[in-house]
Formats: sequence, structure tokens, C-alpha cells
Amino acid sequence: MELSGQRVLVMGLGRSGVAAARLAVARGARVVGIDLRTGLSPIDGVTLELGPHRRERFLEADLIVVSPGIPPRQADLQAAGEAGVAIVGELGFAAGFLEQPMIAITGTNGKSTVTWFTGQLLRAAGRRPFVGGNLGNPLCDALLADQAHDTLVVEVSSYQLELMGPLKPDVGVILNLSPDHLARHGDMAGYAAAKARLFAHMGEEQLAILPWGDALLQDAARPHGGRRGWLGGAPGVRRSGRRVEVVLGGERQLLSLEGFAVPGEHNLDNAATAAYLALAIGIESRAVAAALPGLSALSHRMEVVAELRGVRYVNDSKATNLDAARAGIAGLEQPAVVLLGGQGKPNPDGSLGFGQLQPHLERHRAVVAFGEAGPQITEELSAVGIEVRPTGTLADALALASELARPGDAVLLSPGCASFDAFDDFEHRGRAFAELVSR
Ligand code: ADP
Repeated sequence: MELSGQRVLVMGLGRSGVAAARLAVARGARVVGIDLRTGLSPIDGVTLELGPHRRERFLEADLIVVSPGIPPRQADLQAAGEAGVAIVGELGFAAGFLEQPMIAITGTNGKSTVTWFTGQLLRAAGRRPFVGGNLGNPLCDALLADQAHDTLVVEVSSYQLELMGPLKPDVGVILNLSPDHLARHGDMAGYAAAKARLFAHMGEEQLAILPWGDALLQDAARPHGGRRGWLGGAPGVRRSGRRVEVVLGGERQLLSLEGFAVPGEHNLDNAATAAYLALAIGIESRAVAAALPGLSALSHRMEVVAELRGVRYVNDSKATNLDAARAGIAGLEQPAVVLLGGQGKPNPDGSLGFGQLQPHLERHRAVVAFGEAGPQITEELSAVGIEVRPTGTLADALALASELARPGDAVLLSPGCASFDAFDDFEHRGRAFAELVSR
């Protein structure tokens, strides 16, 4: 992409906006950065305009780079689009410059974990991957960093796919699809279509991986290119217990997850998927096999934060929706005291849907509810015969859980709710949990 002398408008100056603005400056563009928030720090070479947007800035730009939080249907953006101005997201902007082999990972749940595991496998095999995107560092940082990356492992959200520019991963995977983020995408078919755009620019050289048996995603991906690979099928990756089989390029490879220690059944799947991705980008089977058992968890995803008096404390604060919580609760082998609560995400009928967790909660030691949604969770689970102990704050819930847990049990925070009733975000909630445990 040639940017020299072009007028680039960067909309939204969070972490990715700042990275995009820096990259645009480095490539010789004339850059204006805008944000509704005032009082932001200056960025070298960028003209800042803080406060209310001015429409003419949008119309006079050659290219607008939009930060992830901003809806593409925002009025100024729409006007610029109608006037023929090119519009791209931060990730799509970076994609226009990157030449390294790329693995891109999207889906409703497990994106960050699979991205993280894949990065670890590549590193162990001697590559120098950039690991980021929606997780951690923005993709523009891959172009700004001093050290050269030889491979890109990129987590992509469906928001980023809406304005994905020329993004064309060599290996792309949609892990799964479950009802979340529906407010923005309208319905499940729309959500599936948004995810399937990951494959939009692919040809026969690229590998497009989907969950086997997901008709909605398969339909959504039909208009797009890419050789198909399957999670749970062949060619692709299949897991049976700790045995993993990958069929790739007509060859069958067997790998083992013996010794892999991250809790949760879903993490065995995530590790198997990561192994498949690493093999697909050309890592040798031997290197993948050697590194698999040593993979470590990302913070706040089934992270064991302490082991006290025989009780394991597991922080799965990232489980902010029911599917994620189900994965954590169902996947934990030992009996647990499960902490549920936070800010609920009501269905159209007003329910939070916690009744669905009944079959997975039955075998556990106890359920403790906390936070804003605590009373409703208590009500919904009581209605399906699960006894719940209502408490107030996360601290109260943890204190009670510690009393209820017996040696050999776990205390699991896999709350199934957003954190905003009491915390800045899920990371803040997870850190609070870990600190409370250590006290
Ligand atoms: P994402 O980046 O997609 O939000 P994470 O890797 O951060 O995903 O995991 C978020 C939560 O989703 C975890 O706390 C876990 O409970 C759940 N989860 C992880 N992997 C899977 C999976 N393969 N299937 C279903 N749920 C999962």
C-alpha cells in the first residue's frame, strides 16, 4: 500500500488507533487522529483533534482507519463511505503491509487461548512469531516493532472482520459460533457471515478451517475460497481423549497430549487445534509433539492461581458468557465450588439462561452466586433444582467457597457474566480473585 502524501484519518485513539497512526506516519502519510475523549497524549507526527467530530475531516481523507470499538455504521463514516473514501479497520490496515505467513484465529470462544498456544508452539520450534491482534498488541505493532517476526499469529474478532481490508491469512480458523454479540450482528446467520469473511480473499493456496458439522458456518463460508480443513474431521484435526490425529496434505500424523496440564476439556481441544495450525504453517511434527505437553494457560482462562490446603483455585474470569462458563464448569475434572455472577446478559425474554447449566453443575460440590446478577441466577438455578448460595460481592462469594471446599476440590470462578457491575473488565475481576485468594 502506498501512503506517501496521502491523508489518513485515524478514528479512535485507543491502543490500536495509536499504533495505526504511528504506522501511517512511518509510511509517509499526513495523519489526523480524532477521538471524542479530550486530554489524550500527543503522538509524534500526528495532528490531534479531540472532542466532537468534524464531518469535513472524514470527507477530505483519502483513507480512514477505524478503531475496533466503533460501529462501521457510525454516521460520519457512512457519509465518507458514500463519498468514496476508503475505510479500513486497524487490523485490515496492517494487513495491507504485512508479508509474513499468517495464521488467523476467530470464533466465539477460545480465540485467545488458541492464539496463545499456537504462538508457544511456534516459539518452541525456533520461529519468531508476532502473537497478537485482538489479543495483546495490535497488528500494526508487528510492523513497528524493532525485532523481525517471521510468522504472524493473529486473533481476529468479528468486529475486525467487518473492516478487514486485504486480510488474507495463509491458515484461517473459525473455532466455533455461539450466540454472543448478537446485538451488533442482528442474527445468527449475520454473525456467521461476519465470521466467514475471514476466508473472503482466500484461494486454493490457503487453508480455511471450520468446525465439522456446523451447517450455519459451512453455509456462510460457501461463497468464499480456501481449501477446507476441519476441526473434528478429515482433512483436519480429531481428538480422542489425549490422542490427536492430524490429516494434512494427504498425510496422517499422530500426536499425544499426555502431560498437558491446563485444566478443562475444552483446552485439550484448543491445544489440538493449535497443533494443527502449527503443522499447517509448516512446523515440523517432531517440534510440535515435543512442545505440546508444556503449553501453559493464558491468565484468566482456567488459570490455576493457587493451591491451598488441597484446594485448587481456578481463575476463569474470561468466561463472560454462558457457553464459556459451561466449557469451564463441564471441563473441570475435580468437584468444584463454582462461583457465578457479575453483570447478566439477558435474553430477549429477560432470562439469563443459567438453567442450561443444570446438567453440568449437578456433579459439583456447590454453587455460590454473587454480584448484580446473583439474585436472578439463584432464582433460575433453584427453579431447575440446583441449590445456590447467594452472597454479595466476589469477596463474600470466595470466603464462602473456601469454607465449602474440601481437600481435592477446586474453587472455580467461571462466572458466565460480564464484570462491569463491580470491575473495569474481566482482567480486573480475575486479578481481584487472585489477590483475594492470596490473602
Ligand atoms: P476468546 O478470546 O474467544 O474470548 P478465550 O481463549 O479468552 O476466548 O477463552 C474465553 C473463555 O471461553 C474461557 O474462559 C473458557 O471458559 C471458554 N473457552 C475456551 N476455549 C473454548 C472452546 N474451545 N470452546 C468453548 N469454550 C471455550
